Amino acid sequence: MTRRRWIADTWDEATASLAGGQAAHLIRVLRAQPGMEFDIVAGGRVFHGVIAGISGDEVRFNLIAEVIADPALPVTLLLSIFKFDRMEWAIEKSAELGAERIAPVIARRSEKHLAQSAATRTERWRRLALEASKQSRRSDVLQIDDPLPLRSALRLEDQALRLVLAEQERSTTLHHALSEALAAAGDDVPAIRIAIGPEGGWTAEEEGYFDAENWKPVSLGPRILRVETAAIAAMAVAAALLE
Ligand code: SAM
Repeated sequence: MTRRRWIADTWDEATASLAGGQAAHLIRVLRAQPGMEFDIVAGGRVFHGVIAGISGDEVRFNLIAEVIADPALPVTLLLSIFKFDRMEWAIEKSAELGAERIAPVIARRSEKHLAQSAATRTERWRRLALEASKQSRRSDVLQIDDPLPLRSALRLEDQALRLVLAEQERSTTLHHALSEALAAAGDDVPAIRIAIGPEGGWTAEEEGYFDAENWKPVSLGPRILRVETAAIAAMAVAAALLE
């Protein structure tokens, strides 16, 4: 039996609670009653939960037992900001495909009005990521970072594997680069970062930034993909190698 899944707002070892929009939906639409059973995600873990009580706009659960669940893939997408309706679609599909995090980046060719309004869209993107994470029964929620200029986002002080999707790259595919890195890493799977350019592509200057920060250009094949297609294709390749 598949139990509907909720992301707890507060929790401890034995109980969890929902508040706000999730609680209101559960109370008003699903007519929550004590004894009803759901999956509750709390602190990146999934539990079999039973409603213990409802008061005002809060639903309290007893956590019966942990449910074995698969964590996100260790993949962060540096996603250049692009047309918001299609970007929202890409966020939803990346959640379903198991991305851990999306870092929206403002590239030179990101459309100016989109770049300017990106900060005000972030909360909406986070709500979409939450809904898509619940719908796909993830044990955690796709994280959406605050938008950053590309150059700031590239400076990472860690040992992550850095791959930049470059449509002009002909010698190394994403699949090959990722396979090689995972084979070399053995059990110690590295954090993986995949950068995806805007609709107008990366500029030569940005390619220089990537090179200076040790990002490896990789191809998704000979055809030019839309930004959202490239994001989904990259996640599919990563998931196929990591799952
Ligand atoms: N320069 C492209 C053109 O000539 O139309 C536009 C960029 S494409 C719409 C958006 C981004 O998707 C690119 O910057 C790149 O990051 C990624 N991309 C698209 N096709 C790709 C491919 N075949 N291999 C690798 N990355 C690709």
